[in-house]
Amino acid sequence: MSDNIYITEETIEGDGEGPLSGRTVAVKDNISTEGVRTTCGSKMLEEYVPPYDATVVRRLEESGATIVGKTNMDEFGMGTTTETSYFGPTDNPAAPGHVPGGSSGGSAAAVAAGEADLALGTDTGGSIRCPAAFCGVVGIKPTYGLVSRYGLVAYGNSLEQIGPFANSVEEAAQLLDVIAGPDERDATTREASGRDEVDSYADAATGDVDDLTIGVPTELLEGADEGVVEAFWDAIGALEDEGADYHEVSLPSVEHAVEAYYVIAMSEASSNLARFDGVRYGHSGGYDGNWNEAFARAREEGFGDEVKRRILLGTYALSAGYHDKYYKKAQDARAWVKRDFDEALSEADVLASPTMPVPPFELGERLDDPLQLYLADANTVPVNLADLPAISVPAGETDGLPVGFQLVGSAFDEAALIRAASALA
Ligand code: GLN
Repeated sequence: MSDNIYITEETIEGDGEGPLSGRTVAVKDNISTEGVRTTCGSKMLEEYVPPYDATVVRRLEESGATIVGKTNMDEFGMGTTTETSYFGPTDNPAAPGHVPGGSSGGSAAAVAAGEADLALGTDTGGSIRCPAAFCGVVGIKPTYGLVSRYGLVAYGNSLEQIGPFANSVEEAAQLLDVIAGPDERDATTREASGRDEVDSYADAATGDVDDLTIGVPTELLEGADEGVVEAFWDAIGALEDEGADYHEVSLPSVEHAVEAYYVIAMSEASSNLARFDGVRYGHSGGYDGNWNEAFARAREEGFGDEVKRRILLGTYALSAGYHDKYYKKAQDARAWVKRDFDEALSEADVLASPTMPVPPFELGERLDDPLQLYLADANTVPVNLADLPAISVPAGETDGLPVGFQLVGSAFDEAALIRAASALA
């Protein structure tokens, strides 16, 4: 396959007529598909075939959609470029020679390349919005609890949500309509309280921004690339022309968001990935009479460097004596970030920022620099810490490279995001 968009190309036909009949959907390879290999971009799960469908997959089938393949991703969702995949990197169809973003890079690339009408990704700290921005497509990270995670292989379960990619806001909203809503198999899901204002998310894509108030958190513009900031203000200008107003707001806590996110995400990952030991799940390194060695060998052989780094750091952060110093501090910072967003959203309908502070990197450029990659998540991770919904829409280019514009909304008010963003894409 061109550009290494899919890890597995296999068609799963829908069950009949529905809102997505005749539409093709690419599904990130950490979402379980019954009878179709689900690798999470890892050697550990190279041969894993789930015995059941994720709830979102079942809902896709019921909607009449045709699933066309399982997309490439950073291993277990850990990355910002799709380069940590065991199956090799994916090229960016909108900017060849550059990364498609991550971790849902294959899903964004599938839509950007026209290989699928729609796609599903997952967003733990930006993994839908980053690749949407880098590939010049639309991506939605739903409010925590709007979409079932049943059948999603967990990375950071208190942070992540499954969400849609599409070429337009309206199409992304159509896919959200299909996957959203409570699921008895995921107790964290609930009825969207803001949802009764509109019959469907797709109907909210009116492009009407008359009287919309936009808060611009100054902290999320600091340190961003000049061309990205220019494209951002152009998009704000376009919304103003349509009747929206903006004012600056401050989110002082976001200065700590990247640190807090990585402590929490790595801690959860160290626990979630404990099941991959070659016995319960995953690649087996063989057994020669010593279980400790057998487990260690399976994990040594099955996991890549970034996954190992995170399991080690997460285990350390949770270890006796250090728990209060790292994990508890990170939880305190998470509460502070939530409060800051609540305050800013009490005086604005939505908040706006560049999705990524930088344009897409060249393939290979950042492979050896994990810290710089973590810092590129500065504008996306605060939203996951606060459990809020966000959307990334294309906002032009800088030096020929796509720029993404992010809107963040109040919990379960996806409709406001969709209404506002549809004025742009
Ligand atoms: N880049 C972030 C990370 O590596 C986000 C990943 C994600 O959202 N899955 O953790």
